[in-house]
Amino acid sequence: MITTDLLIIGAGPTGLFAVFEAGLLKMKCHLIDALPQPGGQLTELYPKKPIFDIPGFPSVNAGELIDNLMEQIKQFQPGFTLGETAQTLNKLEDGTFEVVTNKGTVHRAKAVAIAGGLGTFEPRKPTIENIADYEEKGVEYFIKEPEHFRNKRVVIAGGGDSALDWSIFLADVASEVTLVHRRNEFRGALDSVEKVQALKDQGKIKLVTPAEVTGIKGEGKVTAITLEKEGETFDVETDYFIPLFGLTPKLGDIANWGLEIEKNAIVVNNALDYQTNIPGLYAIGDINTYPGKLKLILCGFHEATLMCQSVYNMLNPGKKYVLKYTTVSGVDGFDGSRKEAEKAVVKKID
Ligand SMILES: Cc1cc2nc3c(=O)[nH]c(=O)nc-3n(C[C@H](O)[C@H](O)[C@H](O)COP(=O)(O)OP(=O)(O)OC[C@H]3O[C@@H](n4cnc5c(N)ncnc54)[C@H](O)[C@@H]3O)c2cc1C
Repeated sequence: MITTDLLIIGAGPTGLFAVFEAGLLKMKCHLIDALPQPGGQLTELYPKKPIFDIPGFPSVNAGELIDNLMEQIKQFQPGFTLGETAQTLNKLEDGTFEVVTNKGTVHRAKAVAIAGGLGTFEPRKPTIENIADYEEKGVEYFIKEPEHFRNKRVVIAGGGDSALDWSIFLADVASEVTLVHRRNEFRGALDSVEKVQALKDQGKIKLVTPAEVTGIKGEGKVTAITLEKEGETFDVETDYFIPLFGLTPKLGDIANWGLEIEKNAIVVNNALDYQTNIPGLYAIGDINTYPGKLKLILCGFHEATLMCQSVYNMLNPGKKYVLKYTTVSGVDGFDGSRKEAEKAVVKKID
């Protein structure tokens, strides 16, 4: 049995940063994730894509951000149960929680934070009869390693940010990029739509709209797709077909834990501490909902910080918490090696 102060379900960016904030308050953490590696959507869906809205980083690759978070929390020695899904959650009589995974691993904790993001990843698949026969044989629903497509022909389908962003990125990697969308208008960011248009004008992206992929051809591997455009049907030769129609959020077992759920997300008290309707059970990051919720990494970081303060207060009743800047207090890891706190330069203004 694994015991800890704060059990975090989900090792995406929100769950990882929560370990740091909890560590500053001397609370031990353990994380459970269904995936075999930490990083959540960033590692699973877009590890090589640059992110531009992390404060202080004009640009950082998603994979690099996760590496940095792992480095930042190393000193607090979090435990990991990876490749296992949190299946049942029970509040015990003494107020602690017991969480058991699909593989039977038992975890006990004084508090639990659900940082489960979109839940388990289920890509929305196009309704093409034989598509299952070509999965991982030329049909890909996620792009994990763009280099995989170097000098290959790819057909991307979709009208959202993922389809636009990957078309732009692969225009410099693949030998041929065709973007297919069933409408003439795209749902993605205007900036990305303009970039795709510019790449089309330069002959780097073939844009086929309004059109739909209706068939896949090839002996044991994709060699062509069939397109239907304004009543006409024709084949396009390709090495890969990448439908990027988004993910179906699936809360899975979490939905059976007695939580208040709204539109596939857990309702939390955002005026205070991101606690759910079950005291001691929190939900942070993409998995929660409240008025004005934004599914952004930096919002998850903020929520993790306030959640940890609340857990600290719950576990230390009557003990007054005094906010300390890390520039002044330094960061005390759990290995006993106190880092020399960097002397804060305090400029006195008379
Ligand atoms: C293509 C793309 C580009 C994006 N670009 C940006 C951007 O530029 N800037 C930005 O701020 N945001 C961006 N986002 C959104 C950002 O990725 C999310 O806001 C962020 O990943 C949320 O982090 P999280 O830790 O809350 O959840 P996630 O990253 O989804 O991690 C949740 C983890 O919980 C695990 N999990 C779920 N249920 C269970 C369970 N029952 N048991 C065990 N484990 C479980 C999952 O396996 C997963 O690893 C982008 C998203 C996508 C798809």
